[in-house]
Amino acid sequence: MNRPQRYIDILSELIAFDTTSRNSNLQLIEYIQSMLSDHGVNSELTFDAMGGKANLFATIGGRGERGIILSGHTDVVPVDGQAWSTDPFNAIVKDGRLFGRGACDMKGFIAICLSRIQHILDADLDVPVHFAFSYDEEVGCVGVKGLLDELKKKPIQPRACVIGEPTSMNVIRAHKGMLFKRCHVHGKSAHSSMVDEGVNAVTAAAKTIAYIDSVAGRIQEEGPFDDEFSPPYTTLHCGVIKGGTVNNIIPNECQFDFEIRNLPEHSPLEIFEEIDQYTKSKLLPQMRAVSEEAGIEWNTLANYPGLNTSLDDNLISIASDLLKTNERPGKVSYGTEGGHFQSAGFSTIVCGPGSIEQAHKPNEYVALDQLQRCDEFLATLIGSLN
Ligand SMILES: [Zn+2]
Repeated sequence: MNRPQRYIDILSELIAFDTTSRNSNLQLIEYIQSMLSDHGVNSELTFDAMGGKANLFATIGGRGERGIILSGHTDVVPVDGQAWSTDPFNAIVKDGRLFGRGACDMKGFIAICLSRIQHILDADLDVPVHFAFSYDEEVGCVGVKGLLDELKKKPIQPRACVIGEPTSMNVIRAHKGMLFKRCHVHGKSAHSSMVDEGVNAVTAAAKTIAYIDSVAGRIQEEGPFDDEFSPPYTTLHCGVIKGGTVNNIIPNECQFDFEIRNLPEHSPLEIFEEIDQYTKSKLLPQMRAVSEEAGIEWNTLANYPGLNTSLDDNLISIASDLLKTNERPGKVSYGTEGGHFQSAGFSTIVCGPGSIEQAHKPNEYVALDQLQRCDEFLATLIGSLN
C-alpha cells in the first residue's frame, strides 16, 4: 500500500471514533494500543478519575532513555449546532482534502505517527521515539497532566517534544498561557421593591466583570507587549453569565466564567490577584453590610502555562532544517499542551499538518498535501535520530 493510502486509512478510522471531549476515548485508545502491540510495542495508559478516558504513552525503537516525543490529543470539539455538509465522523476525501471532525485538529498528525511505527522499528535508531496521546485537551489541556506526572517517575528523559497541532507545518515556538476561572456570587434574596434588604448577586457579578474589563483595557494600553503575538498583549474575557429568576426578585445567585490568556512571561496569577483584591476590599464589605451570608467564590476550571522556546534552542534549528524553511519560528495566541511539556523539562515546538483556520469549524478538513508534508517531516526527523 502506498504511504498516503496507509495514513489516510488510519485517519479515517480515527475520525470514526466520536471522541468529542465529553465522551470516552477508550475505544480509540484501544485501537492505537492494538496497533502498537501488533508491532510488539507496549503502551501505558493513565486514566481520568472516572476511568472513562485515558492518555497513552509508548516508547518505540531506539536505545537509552532520551529520544523525542511526538504528542497529540485524541479528543475533538463538538459538532453540535454546526452545519456540516457530510457526516463529520465518516471521513471523505474530495478535491485534495480529507473532511471530518478532527481531520486537522488533530487526528491527522496522530495517523501519520501511527503509520510510521514499522519505519521507526526498522530504522535501528540510537534513541527512541515516544508517542504521547492525551484526552481532554480541548477543555483546557486537562488530561495530559496525568501522563506527565507518570513520565516524571520514569528514568526516561526525552530531549524534545513536537506537538502536532495544526500550524500548516510551520514551526511555532511560543504560545500564550491560559487561566480559566468560574466565579460564584452569593447575595441575598428579597422582594425587588425592598432593595435595602437584599444583596443583588447579578449586580455584584456585573461590577466584578466591569472591573475585569477595566484591567483588560489597562493591559491593552500599557502592556507588557510582545509584537510577535496577535494581539500583542495579555487578554481577559468573560464568555458566560447566569443569574436571577424573575425581575421582581432580587437575585441571590450569579455565576460567570472568565479567562486570562497571558503572554508566556506575564503572570496570570498576579492579574487574578488584583481582581480578587478588588472584590475583597471594595465589593464584599458593601455586600456583607447587608447580609453576612454574601460571598464571592472562585474556582479554577483549567489552566496551562504559555510556551516559550528560545530561538537558539537546537530543536528549532533541526526542525527548520528538516522543513527546509528560513521562516522565523512563530508565536500564536491559541494554546496547546506545549506549555505543560516545556514545564516538564522538554524542549518543545508546535508543528503539524492543516491550518488552525479549519479547526473547530463545520466541514473541518486537512489538505492532503499538508499530510504529505508532515509525513516527510516525520520521516526525516526519525532518520535524524540515528
Ligand atoms: Zn488541537
